[in-house]
Amino acid sequence: MQKEMKMEFTSQSENEGFARVAVGAFIVGLNPTVDELADVKTAVSEAVTNAIIHGYDQKEGKVFITCQIAEQEVEICVIDTGRGIVDIDKAREPLFTTRPELERSGMGFTFMEAFMDQVWVDSRVGEGTRVTMRKKIGKA
Ligand code: ATP
Ligand code: MG
Repeated sequence: MQKEMKMEFTSQSENEGFARVAVGAFIVGLNPTVDELADVKTAVSEAVTNAIIHGYDQKEGKVFITCQIAEQEVEICVIDTGRGIVDIDKAREPLFTTRPELERSGMGFTFMEAFMDQVWVDSRVGEGTRVTMRKKIGKA
């Protein structure tokens, strides 16, 4: 049977820490290595931070995470109903940021891609963004 969890939380930046720990705890049953666990947690942090900072522009909103485990693979979706992304390909480029004044470095998507096996970004301006990430655990 597939294992699944869903969570929903308000867009305060301190909830980023909560989200990474919750997802980390959820995947512990897959027996991840220390590196694999750190990779997944970092990817979740980046996606959640983006939802809070860019999606909701640090205003009130809800962030949704769904997480599924099938065999040795985890799939995580981080969803916001915020402003959306105008040009997804551009947003995924290393060093591209729309918020240099907030000292963002434009590396969030690049890290997600480096730490996870696959990353999909679906977004509509004015409707929100869904980042879906997959990773096989224990392939080493
Ligand atoms: P860093 O992650 O290094 O602090 P960053 O957040 O700007 O900087 P990325 O995470 O790679 O860099 O995101 C690139 C750009 O994509 C952002 O600057 C923002 O314009 C856009 N973006 C990312 N996620 C969202 C989102 N959930 N909603 C709206 N725009 C987003
Ligand atoms: Mg980012």
